[in-house]
Amino acid sequence: MRHIAVIGSGPAGYYSAEALQKHYGDEVRVDIIDRMPVPYGLIRFGVAPDHQSIKGVYRRYEKVALSDNVRFVGNVLVGRDVSIDELRGLYDAVVLATGAPNDRPLDMPGAELPGVVGSAAFVGWYNGHPEFAALDPPLDVTAAAVIGNGNVALDVARILAKTPAEFVGSDIVAHAFEALGNSAIRTIHVLGRRGPHQIAMTPKELGELGHLEDAVPEVDLGDFPPPLDDALLEPGLRKSVTHLRDFAGLPKTKRKLIVFDFFAKPVAVEGDGKVERLIVERTRLDERQAAVGTGETYAIPCGLVVTCIGYKTPPLEGVPYEEDRGRFANSEGVIGGGLYCVGWARRGPTGTIGTNRPDGY
Ligand SMILES: Cc1cc2nc3c(=O)[nH]c(=O)nc-3n(C[C@H](O)[C@H](O)[C@H](O)COP(=O)(O)OP(=O)(O)OC[C@H]3O[C@@H](n4cnc5c(N)ncnc54)[C@H](O)[C@@H]3O)c2cc1C
Repeated sequence: MRHIAVIGSGPAGYYSAEALQKHYGDEVRVDIIDRMPVPYGLIRFGVAPDHQSIKGVYRRYEKVALSDNVRFVGNVLVGRDVSIDELRGLYDAVVLATGAPNDRPLDMPGAELPGVVGSAAFVGWYNGHPEFAALDPPLDVTAAAVIGNGNVALDVARILAKTPAEFVGSDIVAHAFEALGNSAIRTIHVLGRRGPHQIAMTPKELGELGHLEDAVPEVDLGDFPPPLDDALLEPGLRKSVTHLRDFAGLPKTKRKLIVFDFFAKPVAVEGDGKVERLIVERTRLDERQAAVGTGETYAIPCGLVVTCIGYKTPPLEGVPYEEDRGRFANSEGVIGGGLYCVGWARRGPTGTIGTNRPDGY
């Protein structure tokens, strides 16, 4: 009989347990240990509450979770309540599936001002994460800036833009539903340092912005390369860029605007005791497609800044760590000495839920 500890009950943890079951059948016992009292990681606390069909993937994990040889041990923070060395002494193997729950910090003057919120906190707030229930983001302001050009930025912008009626069928928590229903925000800026061809937004999620009840997206076609260049993009990105181009033709007749600010690099947050504006430097692409500043700056008046600029895995004592990539040092998931890592803790915070499945296997 093998005894395996999986640390983390998100997708990577459950795919690992599923793979262990498939491989060893009744000859394995898996303990899935999590710091939270409830399982499923970002499926519960990250995936947007109005995306129930995606959240429904938990049913697959539930099958594994309810089987006799898999046990969920909640409310245990590995590194504080029990050490990796202790676990290595107790189990045949330890699999780190701890994800990447820490926001990459916004490194600029004013980043500590009240009203600057990391996406892990903001998303946790509307998803019922107990540590962020008291976040109380400022929604009595007329404009917000969402920094980032990936799907998390889209989630945040969409949640800020939706009407109460559009949350029917979601599982948004009551405190966020009520606060968002009373929100005064009318303009939501989504900022990317590079251009439309460099976004990391998937077409389905981007397309949704074109069909909101009371909000409409706005783009400046002057930011786009010539339309013929779209043919060079891979099909998913080409579809996303087509959505962006189509946004330009939408009538701006709704109460809220979602403004895409491309080639926009935030350089400072300013305000008297709280966020009042974001200072942005215009950029251009160099020959390596990297954003370089032009020296020209402008201000975006806003009272809320949500940073969606990536995540890091918190280091654990005794586990080698890659500081620059914010993940455990590993070779194809193997750390060594009976220690493994999977999911975001292995690869860093990229890919969809399904990308974590091969890691487990
Ligand atoms: C805001 C947001 C929205 C997303 N939306 C989508 C989407 O719509 N579709 C999609 O395909 N993907 C989405 N993703 C990506 C998807 O959530 C990830 O690919 C996936 O959750 C990563 O799985 P994981 O198991 O590595 O990490 P996680 O899901 O983060 O799970 C890690 C688990 O480890 C636990 N843990 C961490 N440290 C410790 C410790 N020291 N001790 C004990 N337990 C610990 C955590 O509590 C957590 O339960 C989204 C991600 C985010 C951030």
